[in-house]
Amino acid sequence: MTNAEPVVGIVGSGIAGLRAANALLACQVDAKIVLFGDEAHPTYNRPGLTKNRYPASGDLASLITRDLQIAGAENGAFTRRLGTSVKKADLRGKVLHLGTGETVAYDRLVIASGVRPRTLFEGGAECGSHVHRTLRSLDDARSIHRELQQRRDVTIAGAGFVACELASLAREYGCQIVMLESVRNGPFESILGSDIARALGRWVRQNGVEFLTGAAAADHLCNAANPISENTGAPKTSHAVPPSGRPLFIEAIGSVPNAEWLHGNRLDLSDGVRVDMLMRVAGYDGVFASGDIARYPDPWAVGSLTRKEFWKNAIDTGTLAGKSVASSLGHKAKPSGIRYFPSMATDIFGLRIQIAGNPRSADSMEIVNGDLGRLENGLLVSYLRDGSTVGAAYLDVGARFNRRYIELLTSLKKH
Ligand SMILES: Cc1cc2nc3c(=O)[nH]c(=O)nc-3n(C[C@H](O)[C@H](O)[C@H](O)COP(=O)(O)OP(=O)(O)OC[C@H]3O[C@@H](n4cnc5c(N)ncnc54)[C@H](O)[C@@H]3O)c2cc1C
Repeated sequence: MTNAEPVVGIVGSGIAGLRAANALLACQVDAKIVLFGDEAHPTYNRPGLTKNRYPASGDLASLITRDLQIAGAENGAFTRRLGTSVKKADLRGKVLHLGTGETVAYDRLVIASGVRPRTLFEGGAECGSHVHRTLRSLDDARSIHRELQQRRDVTIAGAGFVACELASLAREYGCQIVMLESVRNGPFESILGSDIARALGRWVRQNGVEFLTGAAAADHLCNAANPISENTGAPKTSHAVPPSGRPLFIEAIGSVPNAEWLHGNRLDLSDGVRVDMLMRVAGYDGVFASGDIARYPDPWAVGSLTRKEFWKNAIDTGTLAGKSVASSLGHKAKPSGIRYFPSMATDIFGLRIQIAGNPRSADSMEIVNGDLGRLENGLLVSYLRDGSTVGAAYLDVGARFNRRYIELLTSLKKH
């Protein structure tokens, strides 16, 4: 493309795409920025989808939308094309093919299309015994909040962050909750290890959830091949119950990168889109990726790649991708590689869980304060690799060990 004013296409109107656009605008690069998003809504606070309960009266849809809105920098150089999906990218020809049938040429491209929930019911199929839902978008959240307000029974498949936050939310709405974790021993095992996962499983049970693991969970798992009858636990063979009478079954069993639109370009799409420390996609000058979909060299585990599905990661990598685009267009400020300090927090039945660094890369863990059997009294854990601290987790209903946790974080940041 030889326009005087280059076109930067950004695919994905989540926080990573918006932050890439914001960083470009801040650099005042002479470029036309076009952001494509298949959702109809402007960028919103996705983590907020599970954090608050809303009153049953009032216009729930607009209440949630208002609550989660994000102020966006607007500028004549920046166009949002919402409700517009990109069906295909030709990275050699630098052309995007839109769902509307249009084609759009670009000079630089930022891939920020995020992930979607994994489901055993592809294509919106339902089993006939349950109402099936997954949660990723604002529209998903609107219907799940409405259904939690209206239904008594909910089954949640999975025990990750979204599953646990949904369980907490469902309890606030007064639901009876069954949680199913057929593979692991308890919540967050892949990050925090099996001892803490078991302790969290006990915590979830103490808070009134029927939390099933292993074969017991697998028996209750409803999937397209084996739809379960709610009353008998037996495979469902008879007539479908009308949707209004069915209990809710929410799948929160992981995610899948939204990368299909990139097929045919010989990219490494084995787990999202592989990029370097500056968010550049190898093999294609002018193509960058950021957010949940980007898999980059892990500054916390040298020699391995990481793909993180956290809000702050999307902000930091989105900003970095925007700066890298600016630099590739001749802007003076050179982006430095990723400086991301991984940290996240969640609340599960009143227990605040804070995680920092990279506990996954540890070869051992040490309880600094507290007792696995009494999470309500606080538990501070340090994760070690070759004797050095590489991660920390702090679980508490108060802030008993906050000072010690901050000391641990400080030592981690010097890492
Ligand atoms: C319920 C929930 C709770 C969460 N809570 C937390 C939390 O407490 N803390 C935390 O750190 N993280 C949390 N997260 C994760 C966090 O929200 C994500 O890490 C972050 O939103 C990722 O941003 P992103 O811009 O990379 O991707 P996304 O937010 O997924 O945005 C990508 C956008 O691109 C769109 N898109 C995809 N394909 C195309 C296409 N071909 N054409 C056009 N548009 C396309 C998608 O529809 C989407 O709108 C939570 C996530 C969920 C779902």
